[in-house]
Amino acid sequence: MTPVTSFRDKRVAVFGLGGSGLATCEALVAGGAHVTAWDDGEAGREKARAKSIPLGDLRNADFTAFDALVLAPGVPLTHPSPHWSVEKARAAGIEIIGDLELFCREREAIAPGAPFVAITGTNGKSTTTALIAHVLRQAGRDVQMGGNIGTAILSLEPPAPGRVHVVEMSSFQIDLTPSLKPSVGVLLNVTPDHLDRHGTMENYAAIKERLVAGAELAVVAVEDAWTKAIAARIPPSRLGAITAADAAAYLDVSAHPVLRGRHNGQNVAAAAAAAAAVGLSREQIARGLSSFGGLAHRLEPIGRVGPVVFVNDSKATNADSTEKALSSFSDGVFWILGGKAKEGGIAPLEPLFARVEKAYLIGDATEAFAATLDGTVPFERCGTMDVAVAKAAQDALASKAPAPVVLLSPACASYDQYPNFEVRGDHFRTLVSALPGFAR
Ligand code: ADP
Repeated sequence: MTPVTSFRDKRVAVFGLGGSGLATCEALVAGGAHVTAWDDGEAGREKARAKSIPLGDLRNADFTAFDALVLAPGVPLTHPSPHWSVEKARAAGIEIIGDLELFCREREAIAPGAPFVAITGTNGKSTTTALIAHVLRQAGRDVQMGGNIGTAILSLEPPAPGRVHVVEMSSFQIDLTPSLKPSVGVLLNVTPDHLDRHGTMENYAAIKERLVAGAELAVVAVEDAWTKAIAARIPPSRLGAITAADAAAYLDVSAHPVLRGRHNGQNVAAAAAAAAAVGLSREQIARGLSSFGGLAHRLEPIGRVGPVVFVNDSKATNADSTEKALSSFSDGVFWILGGKAKEGGIAPLEPLFARVEKAYLIGDATEAFAATLDGTVPFERCGTMDVAVAKAAQDALASKAPAPVVLLSPACASYDQYPNFEVRGDHFRTLVSALPGFAR
């Protein structure tokens, strides 16, 4: 844990008691702050009670008595409308910050030069963060990885000289971190996402820009109009501009088991630039990248039955992500998809339909997707994952495709049938692992 000492003897309101909110409360208490924690939901409050975190109904609290409001990143700061706790903090004139801000202040106080690599972008954040952490660890560095991936930032070990913090940041977290100045800031891409929470693209891009604007070295993938404009505003002495093609200097991504696809070229190139900035040699970086085992639910190879390979891409919750998956296989795809559809459905994927031998539909999106596929791709209405896995495996085994692939890449949210994409991917993995003849 990283005790937060910057609020010692001060009073802090904490709103939002999910994983990171609870960790924030514990870190503040450990550092000597007086915490009043609250959540609109009873589940979060119950978890806080179990950890003896002091609760108080912030709806009735006088916010002028607090020095700060620490907000969980999932709570609306601006759009669609500020949460009531934000309104109260603004009216009282106290600062509104997040757990990453507490981390930054702590780093400044106890180990200002400690290497801190922060990663953002619309897509590829987790992959790139995991890549950087893996490469640094393989080179023997002391690495703490967390933030928007895995462990809450304040549950990690504190900053120290020679210890590298590799931290994934969502735009919501950046928005709550006014003094963000990482030693290396990585910006991968900016494409429309979460506009319900950020209002406009301009606003969303401006938030992403802040992560690299304050960085000692800004690694920016200059492959879309937004990141190009952002890179143009950074002094060349602080800019490391990269593109997916730069990955080739370290690795042949097309031959890597879990880093297929052009999008992973971008992630690899960005990770390599960040690792180089922390002091690794080209050889150390190349070696680390080649042994990267990938992340679960992102084009994750599960195993095979005879010639058929099974791939879990449950993280693909929209057509954009599934496009990356379908692009990674030239043909012979037995595609399991469906769930709770996003706007636009799978129509944007039509140029890739020729790679698909057959589609297996599950969940709410079934009829909408059937209408899009009709006449182009053979499909079957399967309802649930168990039926889809059984049918896809059977057809793939019987097919003449030279390298058949059963791919779960739903292009949908999971909420109609699963609590989240992880549970959906785990279910797929369990079903596949139980197939006769399965080998890892
Ligand atoms: P994030 O953490 O930003 O959500 P992930 O690394 O978990 O990103 O990848 C999620 C999905 O986004 C992947 O399954 C892939 O389809 C897509 N993706 C990954 N990297 C990129 C990239 N650099 N550009 C575009 N899409 C990407």
